[in-house]
Amino acid sequence: MSFTLAIVGRPNVGKSTLFNRLVGKRLALVDDTPGVTRDLREGEARLGDLRFTVIDTAGLEDATDDSLQGRMRRLTERAVDMSDICLFMLDARAGVTPTDQLFAEILRKRSAHVILAANKAEGSAADAGVIEAYGLGLGEPIRMSAEHNEGLNDLYSQLMPLADGFAVRAAAETPATDVAVDDADEDAAAPTPTADKPLQVAVVGRPNAGKSTLINRILGEDRLLTGPEAGITRDAISLTTDWDGTPMRIFDTAGMRKKAKVQEKLEKLSVSDGLRAVKFAEVVVVLLDAEIPFEQQDLRIADLAEREGRAVVVAVNKWDAEENKQEKLRDLRESFERLLPQLRGAPLVTVSALTGRGLDRLHTAILRAYEVWNRRIPTAALNRWLAGMLEQHPPPAPQGRRIKLRYMTQAKTRPPGFVVMCSHPDKMPASYSRYLVNGLREDFDMPGAPIRLHMRGQN
Ligand code: GDP
Ligand code: GDP
Repeated sequence: MSFTLAIVGRPNVGKSTLFNRLVGKRLALVDDTPGVTRDLREGEARLGDLRFTVIDTAGLEDATDDSLQGRMRRLTERAVDMSDICLFMLDARAGVTPTDQLFAEILRKRSAHVILAANKAEGSAADAGVIEAYGLGLGEPIRMSAEHNEGLNDLYSQLMPLADGFAVRAAAETPATDVAVDDADEDAAAPTPTADKPLQVAVVGRPNAGKSTLINRILGEDRLLTGPEAGITRDAISLTTDWDGTPMRIFDTAGMRKKAKVQEKLEKLSVSDGLRAVKFAEVVVVLLDAEIPFEQQDLRIADLAEREGRAVVVAVNKWDAEENKQEKLRDLRESFERLLPQLRGAPLVTVSALTGRGLDRLHTAILRAYEVWNRRIPTAALNRWLAGMLEQHPPPAPQGRRIKLRYMTQAKTRPPGFVVMCSHPDKMPASYSRYLVNGLREDFDMPGAPIRLHMRGQN
């Protein structure tokens, strides 16, 4: 499984030149649907260790001026819809033209991942154009010369974190269960879950935490077995339901329960069914038993969900049986903060799967976590914010040379991933990255989001 990159931009900026570089002689596929052959070329690209499909929107050169805009728009939209990532190319020598603006607008609306390349940037004649390209609000432009083979390293580093994301999804899409999983779907705004693409939720937790009871409650009927003994259901199972108007596919991790019975197999949890459910999921509900919350196994699975970049909601079950609710809640919050600092700010809700109390809160928390997970912050706002953060707390100066943070952009969503361009990324202490991540969470209202922050050097 791989991803598809579309190269779009107005005629003559150098799209085909880049396409040919990426594909070499490996032109594998030509779509012979009438009308497509002429306009879209497809090939198998290679860049470093990345393998992907590349689409080139060629064939516009001979369009007359009158028909150009309409055709270009249609073609671009088609290419965008066919791809996971768009590389928007402009001619840095010509600067940003009104047609480029038009493209930028289409891409901002339609594509989740846009990489901006300012081509023909060999030599200083292109400097002004590269700087102008920042103003498109599509992130930092790659300074590229397709003809002279320049900028491909930068293209690689922009593609890599995205490719990682697709690889994780791809791994999740090769399950041993009979669960049908939708294709990778990366939208800019939180897509509204539909019956076709329900929100994917995994309910994970220790045996007897009440997962089956909770899922039954949500489904409103006894489609899962519940019982006091651990491991009563045999296989991981998923059910699709309409929960208060939100289509959701809910994964139960019965397989995990079986394994969990055997203490010494705990280590293996990270590669077993629990992991699979977590990988499938967009939102992971870590269900705790109020009586024995934050056990080793709970922490492990919560940490796993965070590392996998899922949105996490912590739900404390059996709240009906709790006597001293106020005090208990305080304890829980304190433990949460201390034991799961990596999930700082993630929602903690109390529920009773048995009585149904608190399920509305859980529903709200799931939707909210999902929304945060899909959040995209405009580049301009990010950089204004970054300037303030730098002023408030300047980056360190190892060996007397201050690390410069120049520019930042959000490279991906689901979960939110950011790239900061800086000098000496290798010298950046983790504490400063944490300062930025925590700041992002607070200032852009993304509590609990498993935010990724990459420091990248600039040559
Ligand atoms: P397309 O219409 O966007 O596919 O553009 P082409 O790839 O056909 O390139 C248009 C023209 O720009 C050709 O004459 C290329 O040789 C030239 N070109 C492409 N890349 C570069 C570059 O990096 N620098 C310069 N100076 N010219 C380039
Ligand atoms: P699972 O192993 O996580 O699927 O847990 P089950 O759903 O099988 O529940 C384990 C036990 O906890 C059963 O005896 C349930 O009746 C009980 N249980 C589940 N939810 C609640 C709850 O909200 N309150 C109370 N008091 N008991 C619950």
